[in-house]
Amino acid sequence: MDSVGVAAAAPDAGPGPAWQSKCPWGAPSTTSISCSLADVMSEQLAKELQLEEENAAFPEAVAAAEGPFITGENIDTSSDLMLAQMLQMEFDREYDAQLRREEKKINGDSKVSISFENYRKVHPYDSDSSEDEVDWQDTRHDPYRADKPTTTPRRGFIGKGKDITTKHDEVVCGRKNTARMENFAPEFQVGDGIGMDLKLSNQVFNALKQHAYSEERRSARLHEKKEHSTAEKAVDPKTRLLLYKMVNSGMLETITGCISTGKESVVFHAYGGNSATEDKVIPPECAIKVFKTTLNEFKNRDKYIKDDYRFKDRFSKLNPRKIIRMWAEKEMHNLTRMQNAGIPCPQVVILKKHVLVMSFIGQDQVPAPKLKDVTLSSEDMKKAYYQILNMMQQLYRECNLVHADLSEYNMLWHDGKVWLIDVSQSVEPTHPHGLEFLFRDCRNVSQFFQKGGVAEALNERELFNAVSGLKITADNEVDFQAEIEALEKMNEDHVQNHGKKLSTFSSDGDPPIYDE
Ligand code: ADP
Ligand code: MN
Repeated sequence: MDSVGVAAAAPDAGPGPAWQSKCPWGAPSTTSISCSLADVMSEQLAKELQLEEENAAFPEAVAAAEGPFITGENIDTSSDLMLAQMLQMEFDREYDAQLRREEKKINGDSKVSISFENYRKVHPYDSDSSEDEVDWQDTRHDPYRADKPTTTPRRGFIGKGKDITTKHDEVVCGRKNTARMENFAPEFQVGDGIGMDLKLSNQVFNALKQHAYSEERRSARLHEKKEHSTAEKAVDPKTRLLLYKMVNSGMLETITGCISTGKESVVFHAYGGNSATEDKVIPPECAIKVFKTTLNEFKNRDKYIKDDYRFKDRFSKLNPRKIIRMWAEKEMHNLTRMQNAGIPCPQVVILKKHVLVMSFIGQDQVPAPKLKDVTLSSEDMKKAYYQILNMMQQLYRECNLVHADLSEYNMLWHDGKVWLIDVSQSVEPTHPHGLEFLFRDCRNVSQFFQKGGVAEALNERELFNAVSGLKITADNEVDFQAEIEALEKMNEDHVQNHGKKLSTFSSDGDPPIYDE
């Protein structure tokens, strides 16, 4: 494990925390967490399968990787790298399967069909290409960095003497890399400006590379064996590498497992490390939100970001990969605004490309329950309601934000209060659909608390006015919505005529403060 250098905690380092005694990939809670990856958590099975297949097919290719990762018959649960990679293997297969489903759905019976081939993890004609890993090797010359020439064929190796990490044919490799670099182009601008001092040794990189190699080939084989392709992929190799780097740099101690897989993101739990290079204090427990780099979701959601003037200039120039990254960036900025306003929400730790690390809401790997899953006393229910009312007002006035996906699914109950999460889609109120989003949020909140027996709960129209300070008088939903849209249109006209947005929707004074 040492030679891998990823898992920071030695298994026998004294009286370890509780997580060491159980499987770190295990579901953190048996009750409220719905993680469709339960099967993936059968690491034993995954490992056996992997060993079996790799040994049978590629004994030599795997040899180098096996040393650090696998210790005889022990199931080495202390190696997060190993576990992460096993998880990845499942994900890879699932990903391709999902792509195929999406492809099929989109194409339907159409005579003209589009192909997602380029987004596939494993290319049928390219699956044996180990050169694919070359881009990963050199941490000092980060291939993602903007100043890296994108068209110059790179060397097919790195390092000196015995530290050379690969020895592929230079010409072929260079050519392949050049082609690959084009795929990578969107990755070149990191954009988050948070540099990590990476100290992955060549040995580590060799191990990673080797493993990726064998994994890719295994994945390719499974790909051919159609029976194996059943589920969805969540993290691609580049994401995985990002995660390794976070652990390797000491920022995170361990990535213990997945706490949620959604359509747009996968959330992992991690124990924070004590990295000397970061000036920030890392929370003892972190949540890592990995935004999925598939295309479909962004298509569904682009209206949030496309019209967000903060991102508008950039949007048009961006390709899907960059837009995915922008989601993460948006979530970071929005969380920071909320943090500054004192709204209970995860605290941002670091943003790296499409991976956002934040503080974990919950304890001992168990995430705080969503409001929809928790049974509150009527007193707590009322308390929660007033707190949310306040938070919505703060969000609107102090953060200049509308959550835009507010519901009992994105509110956690922790420490006797409500925490807001999932703000990547949040927009400013003057967003062309900002007020509609707010109205939808209000409807969700009102309905939840009215059903939950909070007699004081305002109806959605009252709540909307209370939050926005607007005085829309319509007494039915249809008219109310029409007025909202009229306001939005007015703002858009203002943009047309004056080239800028109204800084805020005019209202007569501040919205009323509701408190218990
Ligand atoms: P999605 O877009 O997939 O809904 P969310 O940000 O809502 O993404 O995260 C999905 C789930 O992961 C949440 O419902 C919650 O259970 C868990 N989660 C996300 N962030 C955190 C966090 N900071 N602390 C604890 N759990 C979290
Ligand atoms: Mn959510």
